[in-house]
Amino acid sequence: MKKKFIIVYAVVLFLSLVILRGTFFKQSYELVLEPDSLIYVRVFNEKTGKVMNMELNDYIVGVVSGEMPANYEMEALKAQAVAARTYAVRKIDSLGGNPCKPFADLCTSSRSCQAWKSDEDLIKLWGDNYETYYKKIRNAVFATGYDIILYDGEPIEALYHSNSGGMTEDNENVFSGDIPYLKSVISVGEEKYNDYSAEKVVSADEFVKTINDNVQGAGMDKEKIRESVKIVSRYDSGRVELIKLANAEISGKQFRKLFDIRSANFTIEFRNDEVVISTIGFGHGVGMSQTGANTMAKSGCDYKQILEYYYSGVEIVDNAFASNG
Ligand SMILES: [Zn+2]
Repeated sequence: MKKKFIIVYAVVLFLSLVILRGTFFKQSYELVLEPDSLIYVRVFNEKTGKVMNMELNDYIVGVVSGEMPANYEMEALKAQAVAARTYAVRKIDSLGGNPCKPFADLCTSSRSCQAWKSDEDLIKLWGDNYETYYKKIRNAVFATGYDIILYDGEPIEALYHSNSGGMTEDNENVFSGDIPYLKSVISVGEEKYNDYSAEKVVSADEFVKTINDNVQGAGMDKEKIRESVKIVSRYDSGRVELIKLANAEISGKQFRKLFDIRSANFTIEFRNDEVVISTIGFGHGVGMSQTGANTMAKSGCDYKQILEYYYSGVEIVDNAFASNG
């Protein structure tokens, strides 16, 4: 009898937790704002340690400046602006998003949120081109109003990266979850950019030590280094799915992190006492390729066509907030 009681108790507890979770975690986005009102974001500046309260598009100018080369085509910059804005909207507390910190919607770290550059940073970065580039990016951002990208009526997780190496990646192969609009697509013209290929050379000693220190159970022997490294499988995009390192196996993504290489699409060669890791592409490969966006813009595509290409089945909504107010 007692056992039965415990089971019933456990089931009730579990169900209440499920119900509570639904109450406390915001699961849908309600874009509720007065028509044509301005949207403000609270941005935590990692450099100064202060929270900046900024109009959304003023913030996006700093993001596009930090995330895409200013000499890219206008339509590519516009696509970047809309992707960055959509990414931000998912984090803005007042719009029903999940903020980066309790006291700030977003931060200026590209690892946590999106890169952001201040005027001071940009004067240093662009020098004599500052005025031209600043105007160009500001025009790109403000020309797209408050446009955002929706899928099924919700702002998408607008992931992007530098260079896909020729094919973008399914979200589920890099992050968790099968997301219908983050599917692998072919991306042409990637090889024309410096971001396309790179080499990283490490000494055999460093290679073995990095693996033995970080990969549990690998037990790699430097004398047998050539036989003990084997790429087991790759995704259709060419990115490594699994790699065998002596007695252990890790994902291509983990290997990328371990050696801080540009992408998970890599080959490994052994030269004398060195290990050469050659990569194709730059970044995680999910969502919009920035060099790919630039190539599309050069061939005459507008920003909506670029975004609809890299994010499958989405809808670009003009001034989303005004129309939903
Ligand atoms: Zn953040």
